[in-house]
Amino acid sequence: MIPFKQRLAAIEERIEAACDRAGRARRDMRLMAVSKAHPASAIVEAVEAGVTLFGENRVQEFERKRSELEALGVFASQDIEIHMIGHLQSNKSGKAVEIFSAIDTVDSLRLAERLNEAADKSGRVLPVFLEIKLGGEATKTGLDPAGRELQEMLERAPDLSHINVRGLMTVPPLDDNPETARSCFRRLRELREELAGRHPTLDCSELSMGMSGDFEIAIEEGSTLVRIGTALFGVREARV
Ligand SMILES: *Cc1c(COP(=O)(O)O)cnc(C)c1O
Repeated sequence: MIPFKQRLAAIEERIEAACDRAGRARRDMRLMAVSKAHPASAIVEAVEAGVTLFGENRVQEFERKRSELEALGVFASQDIEIHMIGHLQSNKSGKAVEIFSAIDTVDSLRLAERLNEAADKSGRVLPVFLEIKLGGEATKTGLDPAGRELQEMLERAPDLSHINVRGLMTVPPLDDNPETARSCFRRLRELREELAGRHPTLDCSELSMGMSGDFEIAIEEGSTLVRIGTALFGVREARV
């Protein structure tokens, strides 16, 4: 198997090439290594290679890995950020606020309120992303870009003083045509511009979009955070 360091270098090269094509600066983009379904040792290897931002999608799974990483002193020696990128049930808000640096998948006002309460109790301000549904399928989570709930959320945001809406996030529908992803990414960017115009006091500037199969397209369309799993850690084993 190709060592992690080498895979990271290859991805870095592709990110830089995409930034060049788009006339963007590499420093305006962040790479998130999606370590879900991989063991804590994979995170340790990535940290050693210089990765500082990770994505996980299950509370219980990361709770386990987090204890292992703490025992190894990973958090003590490095400034590591771990974001939740999976669907979060609002009854797990308290635990999620304890173990994650940020929640990138806020998909309801109820969840935003629960996270705000939990963050208040922990005495912190929690960075969040609003997950937007652009595929239209019933199975996908995310806020309807044209729906009332998204508007309410942004109107309520200044009162929810323990969460800080950093930006928007999306997962495009599964499709072999890369242009489908491109049009989703473009719509997310346009939505951010529209929302920024209507809510000038919010600093909702980040766009979390792009995964192993489409991150270059996402960078061309304005992504500020790409979430890469398979291309860095290899194919995930089926979960048991
Ligand atoms: C798993 C996952 C990723 C990473 O996907 P890859 O195709 O393995 O890069 C990115 N974002 C979300 C929300 C995920 O669940």
